Amino acid sequence: MDHPYSLPRLLRSTILLALLALLAACAPLPPRNPLATWVPSPNHDIRRPVLIVLHFTNQHSVQESLDTLRTANSGGPVSSHYLVGADGRIYQLVSDQLRAWHAGPGRWGTITDINSASIGIELDNDGATPFAQPQITSLLRLLTNLTERLRIPRTQIVGHEDFAPTRKDDPGPLFPWQQLAAAGFGLWPQAPLADPPTGFDPWMALGLVGYPLDDRAAAVRAFHHHFRGIQGETLDAEDLRILYSLAQQIESGSDGD
Ligand SMILES: [Zn+2]
Repeated sequence: MDHPYSLPRLLRSTILLALLALLAACAPLPPRNPLATWVPSPNHDIRRPVLIVLHFTNQHSVQESLDTLRTANSGGPVSSHYLVGADGRIYQLVSDQLRAWHAGPGRWGTITDINSASIGIELDNDGATPFAQPQITSLLRLLTNLTERLRIPRTQIVGHEDFAPTRKDDPGPLFPWQQLAAAGFGLWPQAPLADPPTGFDPWMALGLVGYPLDDRAAAVRAFHHHFRGIQGETLDAEDLRILYSLAQQIESGSDGD
């Protein structure tokens, strides 16, 4: 029905098309594929992430990071599901069910789209200062919550640099991975460490853990940050013992619990 004072038909349809284009640009994937006949089944639930990624913000304050993670800043828009302040306060910015933009390019094992597969947690830390204990205490509470509620395996917790070692250095050598391991989170070598048998291939073990090996020096640097809190780009005898322990745990299917 045309109203006497309505916009001319052509103008109205132009506006409508522009609105539809705008909606399409923001819309999620269509729920049904037009290629297929829709025969719905009630037997489903939402997809769940399988990995948790830890970052440091490398910024000056929680407020600065809350701004960065919520705006289209100059380097392109970024976000994370959570941000944990040095005082232990936990902020959530993106629903657990949605894909936040924290990972960028990288590969962990066979996972190539880390953002689709993970929950991202930013820690307010400049990368040069030890992580505050209230922050780690809150992180442990959050990890307990996420692994239980989303059923993410407790071993599946990695740092940004682990899967993007050529681009990233967070959460860095100061991050207390050993404290996380003591609380039952992350893959960790089991004492007493033993020398691997002859023929043990440390690169195969590093790849089995998940590290991308395109740049081996970068992978070792990230591995050193994570498992020893040290710098260095070449493997030594202690690295081999650690890798042997990790590989044994993975091959035996132990999740470290
Ligand atoms: Zn990061």
